Amino acid sequence: MARKFNFSAGPAMLPTAVIERAQAEMLDWNGSGMSTMEMSHRGKEYMSIATKAEQDLRDVMAIPDNYKVLFLQGGASSQFAAIPLNLLGDKTSADYLNTGMWSKKAIAEAKRYCTVNIVADTSDNGFTTVPTQAELNLNPDAAYVHYTPNETIGGVEFDYIPETNGVPLIADMSSTILSRPIDVSKFGMIYAGAQKNIGPAGLTIVIIRDDLLGNASANTPTMFNYATHADNDSMYNTPATYAWYMAGLVFEWIKEQGGLEAIAVVNKRKADKLYAVIDSSDFYGSPVAKNGRSWMNVPFTLADADLDAAFLKSAAENGLITLKGHRSVGGMRASIYNAMPEEGVDALVAFMKEFESSQA
Ligand SMILES: *Cc1c(COP(=O)(O)O)cnc(C)c1O
Repeated sequence: MARKFNFSAGPAMLPTAVIERAQAEMLDWNGSGMSTMEMSHRGKEYMSIATKAEQDLRDVMAIPDNYKVLFLQGGASSQFAAIPLNLLGDKTSADYLNTGMWSKKAIAEAKRYCTVNIVADTSDNGFTTVPTQAELNLNPDAAYVHYTPNETIGGVEFDYIPETNGVPLIADMSSTILSRPIDVSKFGMIYAGAQKNIGPAGLTIVIIRDDLLGNASANTPTMFNYATHADNDSMYNTPATYAWYMAGLVFEWIKEQGGLEAIAVVNKRKADKLYAVIDSSDFYGSPVAKNGRSWMNVPFTLADADLDAAFLKSAAENGLITLKGHRSVGGMRASIYNAMPEEGVDALVAFMKEFESSQA
């Protein structure tokens, strides 16, 4: 059995070493005689797994002590509603940057709860650029500023962290979290669905500054109130225990790789190799402005879209799978999260060169 190079945008590849470890621990975790799936979330075995996972994430991301880390369910998509419910306080508006499909969904949901001011909008150019800091029309009265540092579908990634002059900055980092070191203290809240760069689907991580807790509007469902989970160490109800355990194995793996500094070096090299082949001829193209190109999700097109099907078929025959672009963008998309080995990118690059010459 050979593992293929899976370029899925999510759920995405996990490090093989992590899956092997989970396999080895499947029937009997650490002499407990149970799999981690079968443990009481309040038992001492599982509590040790949960606590270690949180500590490892704190170490890896250098999360300051005045931030809570929550292990939730409901996906990043549930946060689109939870954010205004928890963070509006006595304000009536929030600022949103509209830079792609995920921003749009966050905006649509927030509009149910407050006045949404769109403070930057790249829809005119088909979401292919990053707005500059000078282009942001931020409102000092906004409850918070929300943006999507990496738009998974468009493959557009901010090359800077917006300055919001004291207004809490909220970031949907689903597809870029753990791809490189970031300064957590610049954010009021960071959230991410796990299934891209953290672990299996079913777990959602929220990293939130203490002072933003406790101001939820009165009609906030208990399960959507971040304070509920902060006060109960994410064990108010049964958490996604297996996904949490798996995320912990991924955090350990990141440490073994040398942490996020080392991960970032590899990620940059992987992305550079792929963009280099895309830019090296007119056969391939990238719709995204050079300063906004994502390290994690690389959309690309063939000049002759009639060749798309042949490209995908031949790639799959070479063990390179799930390269079809999102239906809204077309073409191809190679998602190259942390778990995609550099050899996977090398294999894709070699295949792309070969496919191009086979068409000459
Ligand atoms: C995948 C993704 C989501 C949706 O995540 P779910 O966990 O499926 O709700 C939201 N935002 C971004 C940026 C994503 O990449």
